[in-house]
Amino acid sequence: MITTALMDKRFLRRIYGVLGYPARHSLSPLMHKAAFSALKINAEYKIFEKKPDELAGFMRSLAKERIFGLNITIPYKEKVIPFLDKLSPGARLIAAVNTVKVSQNKLEGFNTDGEGFLEHLKKDLKFNPKDKTISIIGAGGASKAVSVYLSKARPKLITIYDIDKNKALDLIGRLKDNFKNTGFILAGSIEGLDIKNSDLLINATAIGMKEDDPLMVSEESLHKRLLVYDLIYNPSETKLLNLAKLKGARVSNGLGMLLYQGCASFELWTAKPAPIKIMRQALNEGVKKL
Ligand code: NAP
Repeated sequence: MITTALMDKRFLRRIYGVLGYPARHSLSPLMHKAAFSALKINAEYKIFEKKPDELAGFMRSLAKERIFGLNITIPYKEKVIPFLDKLSPGARLIAAVNTVKVSQNKLEGFNTDGEGFLEHLKKDLKFNPKDKTISIIGAGGASKAVSVYLSKARPKLITIYDIDKNKALDLIGRLKDNFKNTGFILAGSIEGLDIKNSDLLINATAIGMKEDDPLMVSEESLHKRLLVYDLIYNPSETKLLNLAKLKGARVSNGLGMLLYQGCASFELWTAKPAPIKIMRQALNEGVKKL
């Protein structure tokens, strides 16, 4: 009897996980395991580190392997799209997916990165983007998610700079086509971001993760009215955040974005409110060990 009950429990257990390459340092397992355990959900959360040539086989095996949901990380946020049956409007606009939900053998893709960023900005940092002037460094995957969700909140102006001008040009074009209440400018250089007149500066590049990374902005451009948001969370305080703090600006790293995108993924999978306090605690403990 006991054996049958155990087998039933195991059979009914849902599998979730993070797909990436590499993926082993992801903090998502900590956050989601804590949430499943707190809500007594019979589920486990695994790390799926798959090489590029394993991607297709893995994506086609999800339903068979009882995998009900995935978080997607580098380098697969765009590459998983051909394997999905459906895309949420947000993921379609961003053209990248960070969450997959599997139901009735169908795969649906979402992007909760931008939503997570906006939730953190509004709820924890009490910053309402409406009518604000915003500067963004970087036009890659994270920048696309963040700028789309910021645009939904109707800022006055968003200026974007990327070392690869074509990427920024493409993103600006897409934003202009979809959001008519905000002005969008392509900056040809960091100076073109006009940080002195901005309310919010976002670093959406990986510059700042390494100790010897350069500071991309000039010290003089940072000021007291500015909120500086670095999407990087390891280290918890980049050179940019450190200097901005010294100049009297408010600052935030990307841990809050990670938390809220995880909460949004959890809610998509389970249709239950995410236990945010427990997930936050798990993340805070995990980040100390990085
Ligand atoms: P990505 O797709 O590589 O985008 C970064 C962009 O910045 C690229 O277009 C890159 O150009 C550009 N860039 C590099 N150096 C630059 C410079 N000096 N000036 C201007 N642009 C420059 O990376 P991503 O996936 O968007 O991630 C960006 C950062 O966000 C990473 O640090 C990542 O860890 C972080 N992130 C955080 C969260 C969170 O939840 N907190 C979520 C997602 C991402 P090239 O490709 O030509 O180098």
